[in-house]
Amino acid sequence: LEAKGLGKYFQVGGGFRPKQLRALHEVSFALGHRQVVALVGESGSGKSTIARLLVRLMDPSSGKIFFRGKDILQEEPRQASLDYRAQVQMIFQDPFGSLNPVHTIGNHLERPLLLHGKAKGAGELKDRVNELLETVDLRPAAEIASRHPHQLSGGQRQRVAIARALAPGPSVILADEPISMLDVSIRVGVLNLMERLKEERGISYLYITHDIASARYFADRTMVMYAGHIVEGAPSEELMQQPAHPYTQLLLSAVPDPNGSMKSELKAKSGAPKLIDPPPGCPFADRCPNVMAVCRQEMPGTTQLAQDRWVRCHLFGQGASIGKVGSPKEL
Ligand code: SF4
Ligand code: MG
Repeated sequence: LEAKGLGKYFQVGGGFRPKQLRALHEVSFALGHRQVVALVGESGSGKSTIARLLVRLMDPSSGKIFFRGKDILQEEPRQASLDYRAQVQMIFQDPFGSLNPVHTIGNHLERPLLLHGKAKGAGELKDRVNELLETVDLRPAAEIASRHPHQLSGGQRQRVAIARALAPGPSVILADEPISMLDVSIRVGVLNLMERLKEERGISYLYITHDIASARYFADRTMVMYAGHIVEGAPSEELMQQPAHPYTQLLLSAVPDPNGSMKSELKAKSGAPKLIDPPPGCPFADRCPNVMAVCRQEMPGTTQLAQDRWVRCHLFGQGASIGKVGSPKEL
């Protein structure tokens, strides 16, 4: 699944001079087979907007989305879009809000199975539902299927949401903060389940989170977002060891335990970036300890630091390299 130059802009206000809100700007990345890519950033940085564009809940203002080499924004026929929706599924932060309280767990799983032609007849449907529940370790499956959402714990509900996403047989799951509303004690269990499904079913994940420690635990690659821009992308371990972008450094300095406590959350001091009629230049300029004159005039381009690493920052257009930028403690 590949995004190329995705942008999303909204008109806000009206009258003589409507303003423009820049929700996403030139977002590009690729998610490979059986790969986990994390998208890390504060709330409002555009992470969920990317997911909504990728599952086609809305259209981008610019840019393209490719799935297995096909430009999916051009694929209008119903069957093509149904196939794409079967392949690219989404799970959300709030497992309760995404389940209908009047329907049983079984009902929730039957719908996508029928919609995508995965079961015929009542007997087969029941078997598929039970298989899905067992796949996500919800047992005894037949009993769980007869329950209603409020009769399950938060962790069990998120497992139901994962089972529902698996129903059409996807190869990609976009997981938007899938563990952030769960008790800390059960978070790792849900990530481990997702990891097992990756191995067993060849699933790739775009893992959206504000918790950089969980990205290190779960993701092969991590991309950092700020104000609608992806500012840095790198293999997760390298990004955590040697962050290049000043914002990534700030995020990591805010994590109390860099060795990956799942409890730690990003607490970068906020000074909200200006998304409406944003000034020219780097969106991080107002908060950046390394800001230079050029930063307020020109948007930094992408600098390739290694084959699988890149950053968007003028420091790297000026001959700096990783390690020469101040360490997290100095910021
Ligand atoms: Fe800081 Fe300039 Fe780099 Fe932006 S481009 S992060 S303001 S040094
Ligand atoms: Mg969000």
